Amino acid sequence: MNSENQFDVVIIGGAIMGSCTAWFLREEGFAGSIAIVEKDKSFAKASTTLSAGGIRQQFSEAENIHLSQFGISFLRRFENHFATDPGYKEQGYLVLAGDEGAETLAQNCQRQIEAGASSLLLTADGLQQKFPFLDVSDISGGIIGLKGDGWFDPHSILMAIRKVLRGRDVEFIDDEVVEFENAQGQVKAVILADGNRVYCSKLVNAAGPAAGYIASLAGIDLPVEPRKRTVFSFDCKTKIAAMPLVVDISGVWVRPEGVGYICGVSPPPDRDYEANGQDFEPDYNLFDEIIWPALANRIPAFEAIKMGHAWVGHYEYNTFDQNAIIGPHPYLSNLYFINGFSGHGIQQAPAAGRALAEHIVYGRYKSIDCSRFSYDRILRNEPFLERGII
Ligand SMILES: Cc1cc2nc3c(=O)[nH]c(=O)nc-3n(C[C@H](O)[C@H](O)[C@H](O)COP(=O)(O)OP(=O)(O)OC[C@H]3O[C@@H](n4cnc5c(N)ncnc54)[C@H](O)[C@@H]3O)c2cc1C
Repeated sequence: MNSENQFDVVIIGGAIMGSCTAWFLREEGFAGSIAIVEKDKSFAKASTTLSAGGIRQQFSEAENIHLSQFGISFLRRFENHFATDPGYKEQGYLVLAGDEGAETLAQNCQRQIEAGASSLLLTADGLQQKFPFLDVSDISGGIIGLKGDGWFDPHSILMAIRKVLRGRDVEFIDDEVVEFENAQGQVKAVILADGNRVYCSKLVNAAGPAAGYIASLAGIDLPVEPRKRTVFSFDCKTKIAAMPLVVDISGVWVRPEGVGYICGVSPPPDRDYEANGQDFEPDYNLFDEIIWPALANRIPAFEAIKMGHAWVGHYEYNTFDQNAIIGPHPYLSNLYFINGFSGHGIQQAPAAGRALAEHIVYGRYKSIDCSRFSYDRILRNEPFLERGII
């Protein structure tokens, strides 16, 4: 730590949101001091390292599409900047709809095309021709993202960005923030578990699933909480060539991973509640009751599969509208949020980090206008609804 324990920007949380914010601050030419406080540098329980790493342009709102599009260009340039292969596979995302979802699907596709995405709406017959491994008997259509959509390796990109940050004069503090010291409408300092104070001109909440708790230390109600999500791996003797990530009408998603596949589903609403931050026990009932029947129904080759391992990560779930919360707090004006991405954060982190860095440096957004993601919408009770949440 520097001798005065004083930094121009202090970031709580050193995973993907905190690291992207720091990196883009430097990219924007910010010459002030930056510190990242991280309580667990193994990142063993971070959303980032437990993420499925999917990236898609199938959203309904232009801002979300643009955030992900910047993620795509960031991944394509990643190796040049960070000398690391991000494991990016542009193998496509296929979102299916039954009769009920057909109209929304068509509207979403139109919006995606208007926002510059190469999304293609296919009928059931078109799907059957292009993806013969699917059973489309109860499907009315689907959108396939032709370019850019796919998945990547979140752990590799996090490690590579942190390595580069060390050479860009960013201080890493390995400790836990346990308290705030506020004065005159600003956060003056954060207090660490070891009792030290770190003074800040600006403070960024990048604490992922713990973001709601961190905000509460400042007396602020941020509607973000941990929600448990289990990812299952399995193997199947029949290999499906060039399979995209498929999102079924049941909500189950599945994609290739290594020589096998991974899959998951959000629990039904009556089983989806705030998780204990220490609960990382897989929910195998989800696989038996929901996932496997849906997989076998949609992709008959998956009737005979061999379950592999499973892991749990926590979404940083925004209970207000499941969309990101980006930008400053309206009253505690030196506190900034980059929170609440609810399952689509890893793909949006580069653009969100750049947007927040712009706001910190210039007091406004310069590239993608992220005003609709502001905390103010919560105070106004005006949800920013996105129809492409998975
Ligand atoms: C199972 C799963 C699958 C997902 N799949 C996708 C996907 O396919 N596509 C997609 O775009 N997104 C996906 N996501 C979401 C995405 O991973 C997250 O949105 C993103 O990683 C959030 O990053 P973060 O940096 O905000 O949070 P985290 O990665 O959780 O990082 C927060 C950090 O803050 C630290 N911290 C917390 N409290 C304190 C404190 N008091 N003091 C100091 N440090 C603290 C933590 O230790 C942690 O390292 C998925 C998430 C999960 C869990």
